[in-house]
Amino acid sequence: MRAITTIPPGGGVKLSQVNEGSSSGIRIKTHLTGICGTDKEIAAGKLKFARPEVGQSLILGHEAVGIVSETSDDAAFKEGDVVVPIVRRPGKCRMCQLGRQDYCEDGDFVEAGIRGKNGFMRDEFVENAEYLVKVDNAGILDLAVLTEPLKNVMKMKEIFQFLRLRIPWYCSDSTLSCKNMYVFGTGTEGLLISTVFKELGMNVVEVNRHPLGENVLNYLENNKIEYLDTSAEKLDRRVKEFSMDAAVDAVGAMDVFKEITDNINSNGIALMFGTSGQLPSSNYEVLESIVDKNVAIVGSVDGAKIHYSEAINFLEAHGKGMHMEKLITGKYEPEDLKVFTEREKGEIKKVIAWS
Ligand SMILES: [Zn+2]
Repeated sequence: MRAITTIPPGGGVKLSQVNEGSSSGIRIKTHLTGICGTDKEIAAGKLKFARPEVGQSLILGHEAVGIVSETSDDAAFKEGDVVVPIVRRPGKCRMCQLGRQDYCEDGDFVEAGIRGKNGFMRDEFVENAEYLVKVDNAGILDLAVLTEPLKNVMKMKEIFQFLRLRIPWYCSDSTLSCKNMYVFGTGTEGLLISTVFKELGMNVVEVNRHPLGENVLNYLENNKIEYLDTSAEKLDRRVKEFSMDAAVDAVGAMDVFKEITDNINSNGIALMFGTSGQLPSSNYEVLESIVDKNVAIVGSVDGAKIHYSEAINFLEAHGKGMHMEKLITGKYEPEDLKVFTEREKGEIKKVIAWS
């Protein structure tokens, strides 16, 4: 079968013929795989922790949706079921054994398509039922390729809901309608974060350092998400008008962290998601402002099986209404390997169609 492979950590990418071998489990025909920044980093040889499962080469791909083609009688899945595979597989630590490998304590896990396990950019793969999440509504077959990036946001939402219960943080009408959430970063992940917190009832402001393309602007406008281009208007000016009650950093730059701590309200909630490889610098003023303002800052990575299910439920309930199909801006053949190196005009999420 065809598979998109790389030689980590050096990178490179090619369409290869590979043999699955005789693994037992549920056989899945890949429908779509999404391409994200991590795939591009691995292909460019920039992700140091990328490593193969066996031998030298790694099959790429961690965002996927597929259709069950073969299964055993007692399996929880039947032929034709639409499924999304889980990326991170547990190691031996306490959290991993509880099914919360997203909170792994010793780093002894593997991630499909990233480190220590082959990914899903191939015609088909065999999987254990416990690492599959079912999509009940076949009407969101294509949209379900967004499950993997969206599950990160469902975990973020869970942390947010937990943190805001520290104090009565809601508005006088008992909702979050008076609260402003600033989201830094306008990639797919940033847009998914904005979508989810908008749906939660907050006023959301997407922040970027340069003008945005039409696709992104239309998406934000359709969902009544505000937009701030800091090359045209300063952040602190907007914050004077709409105070920063909460923020998510989906960029991973130390200066974004400082912008958040400088501008966030007392009792604010800051969720740190992005990692860009920049080294943190010590800055006493930032620390002082976090303490004085009781700001809750939490790092968040990955998500658990429950968050995959929640992401699928979100796509079912709001995918159409919130125009989420517009986030998928290009569908490519497995042969089109330039998707890993070239950026299309107006690109948000590119996907590879396998069947
Ligand atoms: Zn672990």
